[in-house]
Formats: sequence, structure tokens, C-alpha cells
Amino acid sequence: MRPAALSEVAEGVFELRLPIPFEDGLVNVFLFTDGKEVDLLDCGMNAEESLDAIHRALQQLGTPRIRRLVVTHIHPDHYGAAGVFAGPGLADLYIHRLEVPLVHPRYVELEHLVSEVQHHVLVNGVPASDAEVLSNSQRALSQVVKTAEPSVQLDGAELIEMGRHSLRIEWTPGHSPGHICLYEAAGGLLFAGDHILPELSPNIGLHPQSTPDPLHDYLDGLRRMAERKPALVLPAHGRPFADVAGRVDGLTSHHQRRLDQILEIVGRDEKSAWEVALELWGPRENLYEKRLALQEGLAHLQALAVEGLVVKTVTPESVRWRRA
Ligand SMILES: [Zn+2]
Repeated sequence: MRPAALSEVAEGVFELRLPIPFEDGLVNVFLFTDGKEVDLLDCGMNAEESLDAIHRALQQLGTPRIRRLVVTHIHPDHYGAAGVFAGPGLADLYIHRLEVPLVHPRYVELEHLVSEVQHHVLVNGVPASDAEVLSNSQRALSQVVKTAEPSVQLDGAELIEMGRHSLRIEWTPGHSPGHICLYEAAGGLLFAGDHILPELSPNIGLHPQSTPDPLHDYLDGLRRMAERKPALVLPAHGRPFADVAGRVDGLTSHHQRRLDQILEIVGRDEKSAWEVALELWGPRENLYEKRLALQEGLAHLQALAVEGLVVKTVTPESVRWRRA
């Protein structure tokens, strides 16, 4: 295998592209060096090829030691190798406090979350035959994650040193409740994680582990990051780019169009989110995609309900939506 290339994106800041089996096949992590030690932003999955690439990069930078590991959010491609690099005698793990309670149920003690998700998809209209498979799709991901206890739980707005750079933690919930971006005012660098990607629209889903209104959270975070006017956005997937205002406009109008479409689909008769998702995206073969489509549809329905455009009714058996 060709060794993953280390490219310097700012003075003493190196981007490393690690292999993953989804999205566009790569996740970007960043190494900050002060000449003695390295700080790492995101760490890829707990998989041999990915770990090897990080070890080679450390060798290239002339240090075996990682001082800080900061994680943008706990999805496996960003957090998976946390337990390899952070812990007693290893790096200190920095993570937003809203991510911390998601880790154990998602990657260690899965049974409770699996049954919670199963109930969630059932009340949202998924047929029983699909519900079990859909709620089990989490299990495979726990294989590529080694968890670690955080040393620092972030609230957002902290200033932390990474290599020779001072970065501000920007809490940007939506894709995940405690998703963070890191912003360096001096150089105008925004390390955006999955919050602002150049090609993809990150999945914004309502589910048992999400915030209660993730789409509004997400759109608000987009607006705040655009206001920072970064000179360069360094995303976790895809290539760095400069036009943050244009990309934020694009992502915002994508969601606005989807809100309009969904409002169109939700008629006067009550519908389940599953029926809405099927009408919007058509039947999906891939179960992982089915679950994402349901959760993404739900995030938009919830935003419409919060705005008073849609009426949401709930019983222990079902959640239904209709036009206000
Ligand atoms: Zn993610």
C-alpha cells in the first residue's frame, strides 16, 4: 500500500488522509507539531491500515508522542482509535461534554440503545420486518472503535493550544450533539470536522441520541461559522476550500428545499415519518441508507413542527405528522 501522504496545510499543521469504508473513502485528520510533541485533531478508525498511517506520520514528524487528542465528534471515523492514542500514560482526550454520554451505549453496552432505536423506528412507521435489521446496523460500527475516558470535557468557547497554534472551540451541534469545530482567528483557519463539507451534505438526523431539534441547531451553527469569515476551511472529508459563505448558502438552501418538499408531501391526512421518507427518497435497498433517510426526514419534520407549519401527534404506539 502507498503510504498516506502528509501535507502541510499551515505552518506546523499537517493533514493526513486515512482510509474509511464509507463517505468518500477518506477522513482527514490533522497533526499540529511544535517540534517536540504532536497534538492530533481526530484519529480515524481503530483499523490496522489507519493506525499504521498515523504511526508513520509521527515518525516523519520526528516524535513518537501525542500530547493532546481533540475529537470533533464520536462517529467511528473521527473517534474510533481514541482508545489507542489516549488514556493513562498516553495522550489527553478533549471532547465536548454532550458527546461523552453517547459513547458507552453506542460502542460498549449496545443492547439498551439497540432496543431504544428499534422502538423509535417502529413508532415512526417502519414495518416490524425491517425494524430489527435497521436497529441492529449499529453493531458493526462498534468493531472499529476503541473508547477512551476524556481528560477534558469541553463546553465550547475554550481556547486551546495545538502545536504552535491557539484554537477556539466552536460548539456546532446538529450532525452530532457535541460536534465541535476549531477556529484559529490569527490565521483564519476553520477546522470544520463534518459540519461544513465541500461536496457532501452531512447527515442531520433526529434519533434517540440526537438533540431534540437538530436541523435548527445545525443551520444556526452554519450561520455562526460563516460569520467568522474564515480564510480557509479544512473539512474532515474532501479538500480544503475558501468560499465558506458560498458553501453555507448552498447547504442552507439544500435544507430549505427539502423542508419545502416535505411540507408538500405531508398532507392534511396524518402520515408517519417512514411514509414521508419513502415518498421523498423512494425505497432504499441499503438498510443503513434507509435508517439515515428516516432520521433525516424526521429532523426536517421536527423543524417544521417547531416552526408551527406541521402538527406532530404522539401516542405510545406512534408518531404522526400532518400539515398545520
Ligand atoms: Zn460524522
